[in-house]
Amino acid sequence: MEHKTKRVSKGLLQSDELHQYILETSVYPREPAPLKELRNATASHPRAGMATAPDAGQLMTMLLGLVDAKKTIEVGVFTGYSLLLTALAIPEDGKIVAIDVDREPYDQIGFPIIKKAGVEHKIDLIESEALPVLNKLLEQHENEGSFDFAFVDADKVNYWNYHERLMKLLKVGGIAVYDNTLWGGSVAMPIESTPEYMKPGRQYTIELNKLLAADSRVQISHASLGDGITICKRLY
Ligand code: SAH
Ligand code: CA
Repeated sequence: MEHKTKRVSKGLLQSDELHQYILETSVYPREPAPLKELRNATASHPRAGMATAPDAGQLMTMLLGLVDAKKTIEVGVFTGYSLLLTALAIPEDGKIVAIDVDREPYDQIGFPIIKKAGVEHKIDLIESEALPVLNKLLEQHENEGSFDFAFVDADKVNYWNYHERLMKLLKVGGIAVYDNTLWGGSVAMPIESTPEYMKPGRQYTIELNKLLAADSRVQISHASLGDGITICKRLY
C-alpha cells in the first residue's frame, strides 16, 4: 500500500491560531503584571504596533537571565515595553542606557508604570539620536567590553552602524538582539508585491541579514518571533 506523506510544516509565521495559542498558553499567564499594564496602556497609542511582541519579550527575559545581564543598552524605547522587561530582569544595581529621539511616549505612558514597579532607578534615558550616544560611550575606554546585553529596535538604516559599535561595547559572550529582522515578511517577498512604504526597510533588512549571517564575530539565531528577532552572541 502506498503511503502519502503529508507535510506538516505550519510554522508560527503561517498560522495566527498557533500564534494566539502560544500567547494564551505560555506568554500571557507568565507576563509580569507591570508589563501587562504597560502593554494595555500602549494598545490605544496610534503607533502601538511598534511595541515589542510579548512572545519575543519573553525570550529576551530568558536571554537576560542566561547572561546574568547587569549593564545593558537599549536603542528605541517608545513607551518602554522592552525597557521595562529589561529593568525587571536585571539586578537592583543594574543599569540600562536607553536611547530614543523622542522621550514623550515613555514619559507619558511608560514612566508612571515603571516608577510604580520600582525599577526606574535602573534606567538612564537619553533623548537623542542613538549613534552619537554610542560613539560617546566608546570614547570612554572603560565602557569597552562592559555591556552584557543590547536591544536594538530603532532606525533600521543604522543597524549595521549600531552593530559595529556594539561589537566593541559588548563583552565577549554578551548578546545583542535586533528587532524587526523579517520586516513584515517582506524580506522573502518579490519586490513587486512589496508595498511602497515597506521597500526601504525591506532593503536595509535584507542587507543586514546577509551581513550578520557572514559575520564571524557572532553566533546568530534568527527567530521568527514578533516581526523577527536576530540574536547575536559576541564570540571574540
Ligand atoms: N522597543 C520599543 C519599541 C521601539 S519603536 C518597545 O518595546 O516598545 C522605535 C523607537 O525608535 C521610536 O520610539 C522612535 O522614536 C525611536 N527612534 C527612531 N529613530 C531613532 C534614532 N535614530 N535614534 C534613537 N531612537 C530612534
Ligand atoms: Ca520593533
